Amino acid sequence: MFYRSLKSSSKLVNFEEAVKKGLAEDGGLFFPQKIKKLKKEFIENLEKFSNIDIAYEVIKQFIGNEINENDLKNILTKTIDYDFPLVDIEKNVKTLELFHGPTLAFKDVGARFMANCLGHFNKKSNKLNTVLVATSGDTGAAVANGFLDVKGTNVVILYPKNMVSEIQEKQLTTNKKNITAFRVNGTFDDCQQMVKKAFTDKELNNELNLTSANSINVARWLPQMFYYFFAIKHLKTFNKKIVFSVPSGNFGNICAGAIAMKLGLPVDQFVASTNSNDTIPRYLSSKNYKPKKTIPTISNAMDVSNPSNFIRIEEIYQDFNELKNNFSSYSFDDDKTINAVKSVYKNSNYILDPHGAVGYLGLKKFLANKTDFIGIFLETAHPIKFSNHIENKLNLKLKIPNSISKILTKEKIFTDVSTYSDLKKILIINQKKN
Ligand SMILES: *Cc1c(COP(=O)(O)O)cnc(C)c1O
Repeated sequence: MFYRSLKSSSKLVNFEEAVKKGLAEDGGLFFPQKIKKLKKEFIENLEKFSNIDIAYEVIKQFIGNEINENDLKNILTKTIDYDFPLVDIEKNVKTLELFHGPTLAFKDVGARFMANCLGHFNKKSNKLNTVLVATSGDTGAAVANGFLDVKGTNVVILYPKNMVSEIQEKQLTTNKKNITAFRVNGTFDDCQQMVKKAFTDKELNNELNLTSANSINVARWLPQMFYYFFAIKHLKTFNKKIVFSVPSGNFGNICAGAIAMKLGLPVDQFVASTNSNDTIPRYLSSKNYKPKKTIPTISNAMDVSNPSNFIRIEEIYQDFNELKNNFSSYSFDDDKTINAVKSVYKNSNYILDPHGAVGYLGLKKFLANKTDFIGIFLETAHPIKFSNHIENKLNLKLKIPNSISKILTKEKIFTDVSTYSDLKKILIINQKKN
């Protein structure tokens, strides 16, 4: 399979190169050169296949012959060895729980898939790849977990001091082995700036083989298609129209859903549900794309005002009207989000996390007065990760899952950095030690 850059389609790269580079040389995002529909009888009989077999059918054309069937199935087995249950919330409202992976957020699938693909490609070489990632919390945790002990990789995580939760910080700093954490004296944007600077720094790139593990990487983006197939596998029925509501920040997850639809999955509508960072809802109603300054919210993994994957959505829906027909987007502030957490707990005895709550609200707004639809919202994180916003509002104590209690007693290990040049010096010294 070949990938082209969304900036200039002239130069094609294969899957391996797209994964290793992250971004095209011209700075554009990679996009599959061709998308081929899957067979009807496969889509209509999803319940007869295991999750691994579904994932294999869905992803194989995007890899081509670069990884053989056996190796690809092994990678998938290491990626999705847990459940993705579909849970009833209300009549015609269901949620697909994506938080049963090791770091309790949906990013585990993409991070593990990318890690295992790189590990596979590195079998043939003795080169060491350095995976550099800036995180506001969830991405770094999933990447650290996914890459732990993966051959030929070193992971460097940059996170903002005082801006991640205690659980998130433990997830970032207690891994050891090939994972190193830097606590940056600044914001998430400062971390991201340092990463960008590193990628354009020739001297550093000569010393280290840098790769990005942010959601623009095709190996993190594409496996998210699986969720939509798993949901419809559980649903079984085909007698109602289907709408997915996706809590969205960088729009990678929902964009993978749109590719799943291109493969032939019967989805009638997508709802991109956002917090107060409402660039896309405003764009869909005004046709005017105008990001504002990012607003911090309680659904912090979606605090993005200029979503990097939106350009891929525009590639999938070639014109604005086509997009508007199939794609809605609504924004909800923190008060509405907390009220949804409370009302769903009261009425359905289900505990949403703030991101899932935004997804629920978007779905309800779309479904108002419609009876011919069945709706699924994605629950992207376990509520324990945001217990500070949940427990006092619901007046309860959440049970701490085993994977979290195990790390709470471990010692945090990180290095403080304030400037890019400090970071660079340390990275080069560490590299020489290896
Ligand atoms: C990353 C994240 C999102 C947003 O996903 P995108 O693909 O960036 O739109 C939503 N919820 C949680 C919990 C996340 O970690």
